[in-house]
Amino acid sequence: MQAVRLLGANRLELQYVPTPAPGAREVLIKVEACGICGSDRHMYAGEYPTSTPVTLGHEFAGTVIELGSGVERIRVGQRVTGDPNIACGTCAQCREGRVNLCVMLTAIGVRRDGGFAEYLVMPEGQAHVLPDDLDPAHGAFSEPLACCLHGLDVARIRPGGSVAIFGGGVIGLLMAQLCRLAGATTVILSTRQQPRRDLALRLGATHAVDPNAGDAVAQIRDIVAGGVDVALECAGVPQTFAQSIAAVRRGGAVVIFGVMPQGQAVEVTPFDLLVNEVRLEGAYLNPLTHARAAAMIAAGTLALDPLVSRIVSLAEVPSIIANPPAQGEIKIVARP
Ligand code: NAP
Repeated sequence: MQAVRLLGANRLELQYVPTPAPGAREVLIKVEACGICGSDRHMYAGEYPTSTPVTLGHEFAGTVIELGSGVERIRVGQRVTGDPNIACGTCAQCREGRVNLCVMLTAIGVRRDGGFAEYLVMPEGQAHVLPDDLDPAHGAFSEPLACCLHGLDVARIRPGGSVAIFGGGVIGLLMAQLCRLAGATTVILSTRQQPRRDLALRLGATHAVDPNAGDAVAQIRDIVAGGVDVALECAGVPQTFAQSIAAVRRGGAVVIFGVMPQGQAVEVTPFDLLVNEVRLEGAYLNPLTHARAAAMIAAGTLALDPLVSRIVSLAEVPSIIANPPAQGEIKIVARP
């Protein structure tokens, strides 16, 4: 079968490899869609640890075509999405349900072969069933959506509340929709590209701010006097980290969701956090949120088509991952 293989830093190739066979309690799926994520670019550049060689792709959906021994819950022919993150289930964090913090966490498309391939094997427990007639490209959004749901859980958005989202990539645009569904009445998205601001407003954001048109924090505080209840940092740059802290009200919460390079330091002023009782918390991956993400996608709760910029073949994936995202593009989905 064809698979996009990471062979080492800056070495990504479409290759022919043997089709995998499912082992005990594993399922073989025919991959029908796999989203390209910014993390794939970090793995390609050697900035995020992976096994090599490995097939990349951790945002996938497909149809089950073969079962290994002992599989009980999944049937051949079902359309599924996969939670790529596999926890050990026995460490201290796993035993209190914080599986994203598992000390032995491994992931499909990172440490074992992933979805930029014609077929993929995964443990039965990672599979979540989707409706048979669902667009597989929508199924591929389950993983980023599951991460966003954890971000929302950490943020504790309340009906009637206000939120500022920094960064209008696919994450920020999913977050804007989720914040409205969670009942926030003011959802402000700050991002530099005009088409993304327009799209955010179409998808449910109540306000869109251009950080290049003046001080983003001042613009947000003009909309919500005293600052917003919650800031979601979804850009992963020092500037938006500082803006997130400055945009929240006294007693507000800042969720660090965007990924800054490991070792990147930023300035914080502990006195301000202290006297304003700002809650500053990270939200990492998708602890036990994949089922809810799959349920939302199955129910068609979110507008996903406007987030899909291009559908591409496996052959196009290496050059897309090896290059920076083009201006205006949101999510590229590969269809083997
Ligand atoms: P993305 O496409 O890179 O989106 C981030 C966007 O932020 C950029 O495209 C950019 O859009 C905007 N931005 C950059 N500088 C800005 C600034 N100064 N002010 C306002 N906006 C700015 O990435 P994504 O896929 O949406 O993901 C967002 C972040 O979440 C990434 O860091 C990703 O690694 C991370 N992530 C985290 C988790 C987790 O579990 N915590 C899961 C998935 C992804 P404009 O050009 O329009 O400004």
